Amino acid sequence: MSPTEVPTLGGVRFNFENSYARLPEKFYARVAPTPVPAPRLVKLNLELADKLGLDNAELASPEGVEILAGSRVAAGSEPLAMAYAGHQFGYFVRQLGDGRANLLGEVIGRDGVRYDIQLKGAGRTPFSRNGDGRAALGPVLREYIVSEAMAAFGVPTTRALAAVTTGQPVYRETALPGAVLTRVATSHLRVGSFQYFFAQGDIDGVRTLADYAIARHYPEAKQAARPYRAFLDGVIARQGQLVAQWMLLGFLHGVMNTDNTSISGETIDYGPCAFMEAYDPRTVFSSIDHQGRYAYSNQPHAMHWNLTRLAETLLPLLVAEEGSDEAGLASAHEALEKFAVHFEAARDVGMRRKLGFTQEHEDDGALVEDLLKRMAENRADFTLTFRRLCDAAAGIEGNQGVRALFADPAAFDTWEAAWRQRLAKESVSPEERAAQMRRVSPAFIPRNHIVEAALEAATEQEDFQPFEELLEVLACPYEDMPGKERYTMPARPEEYVRQTFCGT
Ligand code: AMP
Ligand code: MG
Repeated sequence: MSPTEVPTLGGVRFNFENSYARLPEKFYARVAPTPVPAPRLVKLNLELADKLGLDNAELASPEGVEILAGSRVAAGSEPLAMAYAGHQFGYFVRQLGDGRANLLGEVIGRDGVRYDIQLKGAGRTPFSRNGDGRAALGPVLREYIVSEAMAAFGVPTTRALAAVTTGQPVYRETALPGAVLTRVATSHLRVGSFQYFFAQGDIDGVRTLADYAIARHYPEAKQAARPYRAFLDGVIARQGQLVAQWMLLGFLHGVMNTDNTSISGETIDYGPCAFMEAYDPRTVFSSIDHQGRYAYSNQPHAMHWNLTRLAETLLPLLVAEEGSDEAGLASAHEALEKFAVHFEAARDVGMRRKLGFTQEHEDDGALVEDLLKRMAENRADFTLTFRRLCDAAAGIEGNQGVRALFADPAAFDTWEAAWRQRLAKESVSPEERAAQMRRVSPAFIPRNHIVEAALEAATEQEDFQPFEELLEVLACPYEDMPGKERYTMPARPEEYVRQTFCGT
């Protein structure tokens, strides 16, 4: 369907410039969102709308809200559901696809970057299988909160442009208010997108997709002597850095399936994700992750495994590039070996910053490991430990807060002595050091019990105040905010959230 054939609407200007819809038909199913009875705007991301060159007043108008709910199709939109496959908890599914998502089109932001505008929860598609194509309000707000927090941390991520309620219940274990999230990403290409064509033996499809991904995300690869290898290298580098950023924040993605692993290197698909409180590398929150496949400390391994699946799909292209099966395989292996290099480099740089080191010394790694070990043994809160360490870095008198986080404060004291010896080699003033550390170790994270309370108020009482307040503190996560201390505190035992759910 060409843009002129779509029922158009004058009032809301998106200026869509669609490229994915120009790919061959086998890449998607053209399907419009399903209208809903009573669209109501819950939240519009004014700052993001502006970044995308969209008009807030237009989006918030009745017509705009209908578009964000999937009840109307905007001018220039060519709605479609993307085709993809994926390994879910290690098991391959040949066809997943957007079962409850609808790509409305692409816009060029003020920064010159191309962004997908996608509705999540906008009705059934040919990929819905037994699903209803819908989303409940709780998970929609959860994705809104956590993805926007990640953006504020400076982590590459999909973002939330809007949340609307539909006026229609969705049925999970109980009836829940239905909602639609408008998600923004530099693209929704996934490792599973490549697997979809590879599994069908459609190497042409893989190549077309790789060329598209290169043009959109890795344009420098096109100039390389071996473009597909350069592309694979690029994805591996970005994902290595991404997982390092997750680890440095105590973030657990929760469902790192290959269909939830983006080609652009953005965090995507906020389902049972969560932030760790007391440090324990074995932490798992997701109710469906019985084996701990996506436990905190397994995340780098899980990502390497996913990238190995991507490399497999690119193998025919690598073989063609190298001229032989053996050399193609060696090229893939070489690329995959770099994952650990990228991950470790990003983690080490990040950890050094968190400890206040501007220089690199041989024993820094051991100091980090020792701190983490003591944190684990003493159930110290991950976020607070690093945040309060900033106070300790400003001067020895500031160490009371951090040492109190350790079940046995003496466990901190012995480590602190070694840390201060190391700090003595630095030339930065203590105040400047503390300020630098505060820029990488947040005061505020979306703590699970606070997120749950905000979702409960919204879902059960239609009270969006807690949701709004939470968004406010998370918008500036590295700043101390007097009066907002409650948001910095870990759950009390009776508040602790043990499990998180996909909500699908
Ligand atoms: P996810 O666990 O959100 O990554 O989704 C995995 C697959 O299930 C994707 O193909 C989704 O489109 C599909 N899916 C999830 N929830 C629904 C739903 N309510 N209706 C239809 N498809 C769904
Ligand atoms: Mg998904």
